[in-house]
Amino acid sequence: MSSPSQTILGSRKKYMATSTPTAPSMETLVSLAKRRGFVFQSSEIYGGLAGFWDYGPYGTEMAKNIRDAWWKHFVYQYPNIVGLDSTIIQNPKLWKASGHVDTFVDPMVDCKFCQHRFRADHLTDFETKNLTEYDTALTKVKCPHCGKTGGFTQTKQFNMMFKTYVGPVTTEDNVAYLRPETAGGIFAQFQNVLETSRQRIPFGIAQIGKAFRNEITPGDFIFRVRELEQMELEYFVSPDVGHTEHQAWIKVCQNWLLSIGLPKDKLKLYEHGPDERAHYAAASVDIQYEYPMGFKELYGVAYRTDYDLTVQSKGSGKDLSYFDEPTKSRFMPHVIEPSVGVGRLLLALMHAAYREEDVDGEKRVVLKFSPEIAPVKVAILPLSKNEKLAPIARGIFDQLAGSYRVEYDETQSIGRRYRRQDEIGTPLCVTIDFDTLEDKAVTIRHRDTMKQIRVAITDLPEQIDKLIKAF
Ligand code: ATP
Repeated sequence: MSSPSQTILGSRKKYMATSTPTAPSMETLVSLAKRRGFVFQSSEIYGGLAGFWDYGPYGTEMAKNIRDAWWKHFVYQYPNIVGLDSTIIQNPKLWKASGHVDTFVDPMVDCKFCQHRFRADHLTDFETKNLTEYDTALTKVKCPHCGKTGGFTQTKQFNMMFKTYVGPVTTEDNVAYLRPETAGGIFAQFQNVLETSRQRIPFGIAQIGKAFRNEITPGDFIFRVRELEQMELEYFVSPDVGHTEHQAWIKVCQNWLLSIGLPKDKLKLYEHGPDERAHYAAASVDIQYEYPMGFKELYGVAYRTDYDLTVQSKGSGKDLSYFDEPTKSRFMPHVIEPSVGVGRLLLALMHAAYREEDVDGEKRVVLKFSPEIAPVKVAILPLSKNEKLAPIARGIFDQLAGSYRVEYDETQSIGRRYRRQDEIGTPLCVTIDFDTLEDKAVTIRHRDTMKQIRVAITDLPEQIDKLIKAF
């Protein structure tokens, strides 16, 4: 059975955007995301809600492309990985057993001078389970909001689970939680999936879905939100190969990030020390990306040992151990968990793709996305709204729309339309002009080189396909 260490490490073509990234500020990205319809504040007409963001037309397409790319890479490439779609609300006993009800906490402090609330580990830049270590360090830390030193309250643990009630009665007996990660549903369905998919270890269960965390300090745009979407894989292995598989999955994840357009020099590995990682984890590595606010966790790859299946066995009273036929032995599978947020990745991809270029004395903003990630692949631009051009342009749209996300735009000057497509990262524009009526040909413009070629309409699908693959 294939395993990441034995199969396609780095076999995919890497997407390499040409020209140097511009390293935009967060303000620049927020403003572009809003202006072009990638991301809006949730319920903006009511003033928004901290930690909640909506994806607009292009953000929706891009997030879908990210999910599809992940699924293709982490599920379709492995015969031993299968999918699951579990519910957001589960039996609360699951979260009690996993430890989330009691320990899914972040250390919280308030500034006594300005009443602002912070995460203690963000202020001190280290993580510890011993809260007094935060209190000691914080006596010398300035409040990032009011600038005063020595005004922090004692560190308290704050539980980030969102609570709700199931059914019409709002008593403690009916409390349930919005899942804080998608993984819980995977462990609870471990046995059903194992039996119905007839997998043997090593095998994996993948899931993409919403998770909810009542973050103390949401912020940095869509980096830290309260309603997030995760792409998680739980890979079940026998205990003797846990560390090897963990290392292999770190590489698979890194290579995938490179293949969809993140540059190598903006990624680095951060290994959690024994005091930082969960007590049950044998190793935990973050793949960090250099966001405008510095290197921060993009992708977590944890080796969680047999913790999850053991606690779910105890909590449910169902034996979730695995019988290994070849060795006639029974054991609790160990788990490698690569987990990444769709929003954090979307932000990193926008940041990495952003360029400001000087074109004949004018500034051009362009998002050099890999075509796999770009929200729109081809824009169809008839030179004018002329009634003779429109049917040809519509015909081309219909011809391409089955294969790609295609946009049709016939308003404004062609220069402005090119700039708009550059700003949303569309790899190719097809222009239909008055010569088309005579020569039955159209112009294809390349986003990165801005070069144009004339192509017969009959050859267009083949040419587009070639050009997209050559990016
Ligand atoms: P952090 O230390 O930044 O709070 P975490 O270690 O709690 O993150 P994990 O529990 O490992 O994060 O979650 C896996 C992945 O889910 C993260 O690597 C990140 O991509 C994403 N993620 C987690 N929390 C958030 C959040 N509040 N907003 C957006 N994405 C998140």
